[in-house]
Amino acid sequence: MPISELKKQALAVFSGAKNLAELDSAYHLYLGRKGKLTLLLRSLRELPETSRREKGKEANDLHDFLEQQFSKRKQELQKEEFTQSEKAERIDVTAPGKRIALGRLHPLTRVQRAAIRIFGSMGFGVAEGPHIEAEWYNFDALNIPANHPARDMWDTFWLKDSKNSRLLLRTHTSPVQIRYMESHQPPFRIIAPGRVFRYEATDAKHSFDLHQLEGLMVGRDVSVAHFKAVIQKFYELFFAKSMTIRLRPSYFPFVEPGFEVDMSCVICGGTGKKAKNTPCSSCGHTGWLEMMGAGMVHPNVFKAAGYNPREWQGFAFGMGVERLAMMKFGVPDIRLFFEGDLQFIRQF
Ligand SMILES: [Zn+2]
Repeated sequence: MPISELKKQALAVFSGAKNLAELDSAYHLYLGRKGKLTLLLRSLRELPETSRREKGKEANDLHDFLEQQFSKRKQELQKEEFTQSEKAERIDVTAPGKRIALGRLHPLTRVQRAAIRIFGSMGFGVAEGPHIEAEWYNFDALNIPANHPARDMWDTFWLKDSKNSRLLLRTHTSPVQIRYMESHQPPFRIIAPGRVFRYEATDAKHSFDLHQLEGLMVGRDVSVAHFKAVIQKFYELFFAKSMTIRLRPSYFPFVEPGFEVDMSCVICGGTGKKAKNTPCSSCGHTGWLEMMGAGMVHPNVFKAAGYNPREWQGFAFGMGVERLAMMKFGVPDIRLFFEGDLQFIRQF
């Protein structure tokens, strides 16, 4: 094809391009690696020297010219596309506004996050474990063997099947203790927040699906005094007021000694009475609220996790997140947290 013809064609195609994509393919058609002009330039090598020089100059000039034309057209099209999108996206500032529905965090999420933050400030990391758990982690490794009567303390959802070990929905967050210890060496301090499941009837104080926050601190000389200090500090920061706690002896198979932790009632300030001397119903006018179970990690639990109980000691605790939220926000019924009632959730 004569060069003049090529020029005419290319110019027509460039100016005929209706958008940047079309212009781009036009570029490839003439100036691309396999474009018509590129191939022409390449074929000049085969011409005798005299005509090669003359033709070569002509073709090179055309190449520069077409490059220029291409950029010019590109600018035009860019400008056009910009104007069009400006028109399409024009904002009518006088149009009435749309109401945006604000989302918010569920009160249990907020309580859990606050707890993670507070324990984090005391050097506790966060550990997690699966909801579906092996019998070994949920019971045996925690010093609750198969025929031990203590198993009845946890009403369990068992899963059908499972060939090697029986599976269940974890009844507490304590299996995370074992899982963590299997893969870490002390000293350490962790909390493990998460869902747990109990096969039991639901009422104002019980739910079959609830949240726990497990704690575990292990070192060479970790004592009950450490536990008391950590928990007292936690409650003070969480409820933002000074707090008294007391420990009562109790039994849990995975701790020795074990205790229940009571906290001075946040509603009546520990007096057991409300205004005009009426009894405080939140604490049964005792002035104390039962908050959680805890204790010093049982030597058998250390052994199950592969630690030497003569070398290490530590405390463990498990608190109910719902219980914390009920006290913090004055919620009278645990079921409210799970009903998905937006009117309830929007209060927090
Ligand atoms: Zn009270």
